[in-house]
Amino acid sequence: MILAAGSPAVRAEPARQEHLPRILVLATGGTIAGTASARSAIAYNAGGVLGEQLVASVPGLDQLAVIKAEQVSNIGSQDMNSQVWTQLAKRIKQAFDRNEADGVVITHGTDTMEETAFFLDNVLDVSKPVVLVGAMRPSSAVSADGPGNLYEAVEVAASEKSRNRGVLVVMNDTIHTARVVTKTNTTSVQTFLDPNDGPAGLVDPASIHYFMPAAPRHKLALALPSAGLPRVEIVYAHADMDADQIEAAVHDHAKGIVLAGVGDGNASQAALGALEDAARHGIVVVRSSRVGGGLVNRNVEVSDDKAGFVVSYDLNPQKARLLTQLLIGNGITTPANVQQAFDDAY
Ligand code: ASP
Repeated sequence: MILAAGSPAVRAEPARQEHLPRILVLATGGTIAGTASARSAIAYNAGGVLGEQLVASVPGLDQLAVIKAEQVSNIGSQDMNSQVWTQLAKRIKQAFDRNEADGVVITHGTDTMEETAFFLDNVLDVSKPVVLVGAMRPSSAVSADGPGNLYEAVEVAASEKSRNRGVLVVMNDTIHTARVVTKTNTTSVQTFLDPNDGPAGLVDPASIHYFMPAAPRHKLALALPSAGLPRVEIVYAHADMDADQIEAAVHDHAKGIVLAGVGDGNASQAALGALEDAARHGIVVVRSSRVGGGLVNRNVEVSDDKAGFVVSYDLNPQKARLLTQLLIGNGITTPANVQQAFDDAY
């Protein structure tokens, strides 16, 4: 239906709305809230459209849920940071504790969406759905994917089927879990994949289908570190690598170093030697991989026991970094205890 300018928005009947789930939308910015000239899907600013406007622009949302939108930030997710993460975590916990909402949807840029999802997954112990959603094309582009994604995210967050599944990401008709999801393409709308596990489920305007039943998860229940997140650097391995990046991280007082290693989390002799030195000085060293799929296991090509290293298993470097920050922030710092926590979280 096309409304004449000034026509009141179409609303669900109040009687019907009473029985609808209550969804809290927390808006943080990103391309989903970006604007550009109508034909353009490039040269735009992430952020700019408010959460309330986003919600109001999606036809039919008010038939799915009673929605309350709050603006937490309005930034591109390249600028996402631990202050906003802490704000999100506190607001979600408060909303569920006070029974203000049956589910939460977070609108977010796609660049670091997997990191926000993984952070929240580790610090929230909630059974109600928490769903992150974004868009690859700005809200004013002819081919905007945000409205459809937001509709489906609300649908997923409003569903009983989504309870006890941890934090989820919904993009392009696909439901992903926080631990496995990763952005794999700079521009495609089908950018989010789950290399080590596959998607959790599928969603379209008519149905939600999960491939596996929800299962109670082993939760580390990590507290939000009151002193903020400690400094943990990611060092990117490559051919012809020297020790400079690692020495710079040590010099900058990093409390942890995550190796985005070649292959199964490997690096040159020079780099491994410098990492071993760092571990000997009490810096938490975690081996992950730059490859994007597969596991980094202990003591395969690198002698982790001897060097005092931790391995990240399936966690990519950016998620291994977050878990390392949270563990150190919770006082878990010895290689054995950090490894145990990575094992427990796996
Ligand atoms: N740079 C944007 C962001 O992450 C890209 C996006 O949202 O797709 O906020």
